[in-house]
Amino acid sequence: APSDADAPTIFDKIINKEIPSNVVYEDDKVFAFRDINPQAPTHILIIPKVKDGLTGLSKAEERHFEILGRLLYTAKLIAKQEGLDDGFRVVINDGPKGCQSVYHIHVHLLGGRQMNWPPG
Ligand code: 5GP
Repeated sequence: APSDADAPTIFDKIINKEIPSNVVYEDDKVFAFRDINPQAPTHILIIPKVKDGLTGLSKAEERHFEILGRLLYTAKLIAKQEGLDDGFRVVINDGPKGCQSVYHIHVHLLGGRQMNWPPG
């Protein structure tokens, strides 16, 4: 089932480069690439290379503390790399009411335009 913790998603194919993507950052733990349907001039997805049951933030456990920190820290690094010096937004959609569509945790990094609040 799509919500099974170990079920692969399209993001596994992106990490493995079976599906091409516009990669902006990669290290041993984290992969980041441009969203195919950008909601802002900069729209990047930051994901763990190994999902380890982390389909979404609601499934986080103590063993995920390090990777969760790395995902957010990578968002900051990429924001700097992208020149988002006047501000940016990070978003994690979770579950159906959060509009999550891919069940491999990902941080959205959005910038390059004025963001609004509340987001709607
Ligand atoms: P969610 O709605 O789960 O928070 O975000 C999933 C994001 O993945 C969406 O913004 C969607 O545009 C993006 N996405 C889905 N499939 C692909 C793909 O094949 N390539 C890229 N680059 N982005 C994708």
